[in-house]
Amino acid sequence: MKSGDGDSLLRFDFGDVPVRGGIVRLESALADVLGQHHYPGPAAGLLGEALAASALLAATLKFAGALSLQARSAGSVQLLFAECGHDQRLRGYARVAEGAHATGFGAMLDGGTLAITITPEQGQRYQGIVPLEHPGLDACIEAYFEQSEQLPTLIRLVSDGVRAAGLMLQVLPGGRADDPRWEHLQQLSATVRADELLEDVFEGLLWKLFHQEKVHLQPPVPLAFGCRCSEQRAAATLQSVGEAEARDVLAEQGLVKVQCEFCQQEYRFDGPALDTLFGPAGAGSTRH
Ligand SMILES: [Zn+2]
Repeated sequence: MKSGDGDSLLRFDFGDVPVRGGIVRLESALADVLGQHHYPGPAAGLLGEALAASALLAATLKFAGALSLQARSAGSVQLLFAECGHDQRLRGYARVAEGAHATGFGAMLDGGTLAITITPEQGQRYQGIVPLEHPGLDACIEAYFEQSEQLPTLIRLVSDGVRAAGLMLQVLPGGRADDPRWEHLQQLSATVRADELLEDVFEGLLWKLFHQEKVHLQPPVPLAFGCRCSEQRAAATLQSVGEAEARDVLAEQGLVKVQCEFCQQEYRFDGPALDTLFGPAGAGSTRH
């Protein structure tokens, strides 16, 4: 069942209290991401949470670009990637070990690290990395903001593998973690339940949590699945694989195919395309 606030994100603030907030819910957008692959239920839930988090965090960007969360681990979920752009388009992917049956967060992302990367359309990429040493993705993201950004953050993420939702409150740069107003807002937010995040109308839920506060709501923005792959990026992938391997594949199969993990789009490179990419066959010094 689709709720009134499915696939949208609503930002809010508390007037003169230096705290910003966001609430998000994903339904069709999550189905579109999950529909690209067959994920075990727990991994689908984890990817849902990561996508909800990427939307909440991307909403704080002040420039055109994208924000991604990437976890790598020795557990059953070897790679988890979720990205949201300033255009509210989301994409994500998880690589799950064959035959894995792990269900808990710790087992799925055992010994893992979490990288949060901001890629502006213009300018330098920025990345921070923390170990995944807390019992949930939300707690790990809170630790990231505490360690890497010194921005006190509360984030709650939930997903049942079909829907995903999240609530985030963050002290604005320059605000203080020991501000009693922040502590009060944290206490109020901590009462939120998973079913409320997944099902309640946003305005009703925010009223339930913060009815004694001055909450200013911004208009909700829609979110949707969307990929950022291109012929150019596929070519860059091929270049990182290297000319020797690309030419071997060309010799064996007559065509080199690069498939996008996010949307299954296939990019094809023939002999002349490889010549354009690497220089004429045989001329390259990397072939050996
Ligand atoms: Zn794609």
